[in-house]
Amino acid sequence: MRKKIVAGNWKMHKNAAQTQELLTDLLAKIPTQTTAEVIVAPTFVNLAAAVTKLEGSAVAVAAQNLHQAESGAFTGEISADMIKSVGVNHVILGHSERRAIFHESDALIASKVNTALEHDMTVIFCFGEELKDRQSGNHFNIVENQLKDGLFHITASDWEKVVLAYEPVWAIGTGETASPEQAQEMHEFIRETVREAFGSAIAEDLTILYGGSVKPDNAKEIFSKPDVDGGLIGGAALNATDFVAIITAI
Ligand code: PEP
Repeated sequence: MRKKIVAGNWKMHKNAAQTQELLTDLLAKIPTQTTAEVIVAPTFVNLAAAVTKLEGSAVAVAAQNLHQAESGAFTGEISADMIKSVGVNHVILGHSERRAIFHESDALIASKVNTALEHDMTVIFCFGEELKDRQSGNHFNIVENQLKDGLFHITASDWEKVVLAYEPVWAIGTGETASPEQAQEMHEFIRETVREAFGSAIAEDLTILYGGSVKPDNAKEIFSKPDVDGGLIGGAALNATDFVAIITAI
């Protein structure tokens, strides 16, 4: 069964006290029953405290990245085992900021995907075209290549642990959102691409999130599209009222 998911990517925001404050606010405002599964991704140093705080709630915690190696001389990096050891079972990989600012290639992201899956983590796999790609009409090619090069080496059973997040780079943090029709068109294309390679059952069960300036006032329309199964939310996830409004727009 295809799941609806709303995930909040907190990026490099919120120190320890602010993390507690936002989670307290979120727990106070979130309805006890939600249609969507809810995930929040605080910074590494606040993951353990977030897990403790959210114990007994329906809100899951994700890391924003991991290193592909098991352990070793990689100063400043965090392994899958370390993340799992504090009770976190989800990880965001391939975010456009990791691709652009930290030069993460499709090959590197593919190896991070492997590590996450070996550790039985759920991967939220992000991908999406830049403005120049859309302007030149190359957006379907770019998206297809990112998907195939970063993810299509996985096995059929691995797909149970994968959530896709289509995030057009030109819509992230810009206030510019893809129209619901543009989101639907690309999500349908993504699902068809998965269907061709892995079959209908996997494609139909696959959750495909949209990310890029989703706000309380545009969430409902975007989520109403048949191939949009929820959202990956940046800015609006930093405010509990806005995030809950987006969660309940599903
Ligand atoms: C993101 O960073 O994944 C994102 C979608 O950000 P925003 O909602 O702020 O555009």
